[in-house]
Amino acid sequence: MKQHTLKKSYEFRGKGLHTGAPGCLRIEPAPAGHGILFQRTDIEGCPTIRAIASNVGDVSFNTTLEENGVKVVLVEHILSALAGLGVDNALLKIDNVEVPVLDGSAAPFAEAIAADGLLEQDADRRFLEVKETFTYRDDRSDAWVRVEPCDRFEASLTIDFNSPVVGVQTCVFDPTVDYLTQIAPCRTFCFFSQLEQLAAAGLVRGGDMDNAIVIVDREADEASVQRVARIFNARDIEVRQGYLSNVDLHFDNECARHKMLDLVGDFSLLGAPLKARITAFKTGHRVNNAVAKILLKQFTQDTPVL
Ligand SMILES: [Zn+2]
Repeated sequence: MKQHTLKKSYEFRGKGLHTGAPGCLRIEPAPAGHGILFQRTDIEGCPTIRAIASNVGDVSFNTTLEENGVKVVLVEHILSALAGLGVDNALLKIDNVEVPVLDGSAAPFAEAIAADGLLEQDADRRFLEVKETFTYRDDRSDAWVRVEPCDRFEASLTIDFNSPVVGVQTCVFDPTVDYLTQIAPCRTFCFFSQLEQLAAAGLVRGGDMDNAIVIVDREADEASVQRVARIFNARDIEVRQGYLSNVDLHFDNECARHKMLDLVGDFSLLGAPLKARITAFKTGHRVNNAVAKILLKQFTQDTPVL
């Protein structure tokens, strides 16, 4: 199988979910062997940040990459779109610190790119093959990830937030599942009860009713409804148990599918497509990236060129 890049460049404008800052992400084709590279065009010298697990910094509410003190925030959705579509090489120019959140999914990126198709390049795609099964257990929660050898990329995950609204959800992704229609449209989500805490921490400044699914596990009191309405710049928020303002879900298990979207993005930080079977239980960016770092170390030992 050959490497692929984009047929043309694309621009996406919007605000950052956490910083609220407006930004423009320009995705350009890149030569074979280039990989995925971010470039901060708003900083003198236009420094680059490689999309590689060893550059992962903060993973509390998103995946942040950092190289030589230069950061780019919320990289996982665009990286997921590129990996999900099979893009090996691209240059991602950004004029701010955070990738625009758009609708909270990977669909705007994936649909634009898929509409034009990809450009096949004159170089073979290199795959990373897992040789031995291992299980990573998180020391701060009951989350775990099992990684097994497989002749293709397969992942299955389970989420369980002990939420009466979300319940226990599962999602499976392998080459028979169409990333573009089944995974890319699934939006990020958070719990109503977390919103004030996130806002107090200076996050979700760009959050609104159009870029995140908000889960309400119990009736909220009027004061917190008003505070959240201010955070989300929204009037007439309807708060009752369920999904805030009765948002229409794209799939019954949209939350699990979004976690799969994130997982695909996080595991793309190995720098080449992975052949492995991943089983993930209650994981998020922190655990995904811990496993990606272990794998990266293994592959770096196998092939020092990485
Ligand atoms: Zn996400």
